[in-house]
Amino acid sequence: SNTRYHSYSGGQVVVLGDSHVGKTSLVTRFAEGYYRENSREPTVGAFFVTKRIQSSDGTPTKVQIWDTAGQESFHQIASMFYKNAAAIIFCYDVTSRESFDGMRRWLDGVRSATPRSGGGKSDGMVLAIAGLKSDLLTYDSVPEAEASALADALGAIHVPTSAKADVGVDELFRGLADMVLMNS
Ligand code: GDP
Ligand code: MG
Repeated sequence: SNTRYHSYSGGQVVVLGDSHVGKTSLVTRFAEGYYRENSREPTVGAFFVTKRIQSSDGTPTKVQIWDTAGQESFHQIASMFYKNAAAIIFCYDVTSRESFDGMRRWLDGVRSATPRSGGGKSDGMVLAIAGLKSDLLTYDSVPEAEASALADALGAIHVPTSAKADVGVDELFRGLADMVLMNS
């Protein structure tokens, strides 16, 4: 297996967003290669998996992906997890306006806690906005253009994904790897 559980000091990717938007499913799809409907256990606190990936030009790299709990209480300690991150993925559920607004609160929290990500373009920290559950996309979903505009303003990448249908997941993580390698 290319998934291991041990301490690793580089290439950290932190996954943030409200509860139930699909963060654990995203990480599981990418790192373990499967999707399980209605996984019951909520993630408590945070845990990570490491995975070897290749950037678009074939450069091998290793990422440590932190899955986090979306509870309000986690906002207060979240900065411990993302202060030294190479990249952060801000997640929302494409069917939920509330989760998009929640994602903006995560974004504000990061930008106020890390000068590196302040003032528009991230300085050293790569940001991504991921719309999750794209297989459920309907006419009244959060408009993709709105997420794209927000991403553009942040110098972030924006990728719609579905852990269930396995759409956009590799693209998201490879896009991040490309940007992290460009920055280093
Ligand atoms: P988390 O709380 O953000 O970690 O969210 P989970 O990964 O636990 O997912 C919350 C719920 O959304 C679960 O019932 C998942 O099965 C479901 N879910 C997650 N990803 C997808 C997806 O890509 N498509 C669909 N249709 N459901 C999803
Ligand atoms: Mg979870």
